Amino acid sequence: MFRAIGLLTIAIALFLGGVSAMADAGDFQVGVGKVVITPKKNMWMAGYASRTQPSDGKVHDLYAKALAIKDSEGNISVLVGSDVIGLPREMSQQVGETIEKKHGIPRERLMLTASHTHTGPAFRDNLRTMYKMDDGQWALVEEYSKELPLLLVEAIDKAIADLEPCKLYWGVGEAGFAKNRRKYTIGGVTNDYNPIGPVDHDVPVLKAVREDGSVKALSFGYACHNTTLGFYKFTGDYAGFAQEYLEKDFDGATAIFSAGCGGDQNPLPRRSLELAEKYGHELADAVKSVANSEMEEMKGPIKAQYREIDLPLSEPPTREELVEQTKSDNRYIQARAEALLPKFDEKGGLDTTYPYPIQIWDFTSGHRILALGGEAVVDYSLLFKHYLGEEKLWVIAYANDVMAYIPSLRVLREGGYEGAESMIYYGMYGPWAPQVESMIVGTVHDMVGKELDESP
Ligand SMILES: [Zn+2]
Repeated sequence: MFRAIGLLTIAIALFLGGVSAMADAGDFQVGVGKVVITPKKNMWMAGYASRTQPSDGKVHDLYAKALAIKDSEGNISVLVGSDVIGLPREMSQQVGETIEKKHGIPRERLMLTASHTHTGPAFRDNLRTMYKMDDGQWALVEEYSKELPLLLVEAIDKAIADLEPCKLYWGVGEAGFAKNRRKYTIGGVTNDYNPIGPVDHDVPVLKAVREDGSVKALSFGYACHNTTLGFYKFTGDYAGFAQEYLEKDFDGATAIFSAGCGGDQNPLPRRSLELAEKYGHELADAVKSVANSEMEEMKGPIKAQYREIDLPLSEPPTREELVEQTKSDNRYIQARAEALLPKFDEKGGLDTTYPYPIQIWDFTSGHRILALGGEAVVDYSLLFKHYLGEEKLWVIAYANDVMAYIPSLRVLREGGYEGAESMIYYGMYGPWAPQVESMIVGTVHDMVGKELDESP
């Protein structure tokens, strides 16, 4: 009898041992990698058509930073933040292929994000019709566009080599400097402060903590254009300052910013270094107060999905219409038509859809990161929080490819810069088709396994 109880005790102990090993299975290993990506030479800067000369030095360095998370199933997922306007499709693909070959990490586990700073370098294949630069300047842009993917890979390599046991925590703070920039006037929507327009002031924060209790990483986001500054010095703008302040406050931590759905949001007022620093402090303080408070512990494994959907554009122009546009006295329309004509002739027409990337990481604890491509307007983060619950959802935009603005149906119908005009600078022949919002929302619902009519 006693012997039987003894064996039973051993059996229970073994069973409990197994259970506790399973309970630990939610824990992670986390690594970070940080690489300076400031161009070595002065070159053309991204985001504004009005610039007339290349950069003139820097205020501080620009960085690519990677956060590698290895879960209990041995899968490594990597989130990359970069102080640039947005990574074009070709560059993200190149980085994705290299990382898959080198580390066996599939594309769905690599999330490439950007801060959308407008005081960073210009790229090939992004806003090409916007810039008026000579061949010498284009050569520098080409050179940098070849360098940057290698630097992104270097940051990811470093993060993977740096993996150590960590706990991950989730929380959401708030910062109020993002303002809706679509003002309704009799003449249509203009780029100005709209006090009644929608905003999203959430500051999602993911914190990685080492076994000794020190903070290893703070990954955070905010839905606002990173456009306080428009001058000729390289900076990460408010997001660059926020990352700098957090890395000072949390010694040994890496702070990584990813822009949210701020397509129609600006930091207002703007245009001074003091304001960029002020917003940087505001954002860093929001992250800090979350990081210093009680946060929810996250559990793995992480389920990752990546899809590209054929997002439709409106009716394409005829060849004759394109030829007519090459004679336009609007130099941007003219430049766009000149870029599109050879494409038209090569294929006998223009592509009427664009492969739009949507990526989702689901943690077993219910926390979810949704990463959308393009300059998604704020309606998308508000919509998805409404549909999928705001407590455990972080919506990132400008992820994996920044091909154009992504208007909601409302913004598309209202027109203005984000709904229509910006397509000229992105070299797209016309506005998106009206089903863009329903396709994106429908795809996300499909990916998370939820019927649209179950929402909210
Ligand atoms: Zn933008």
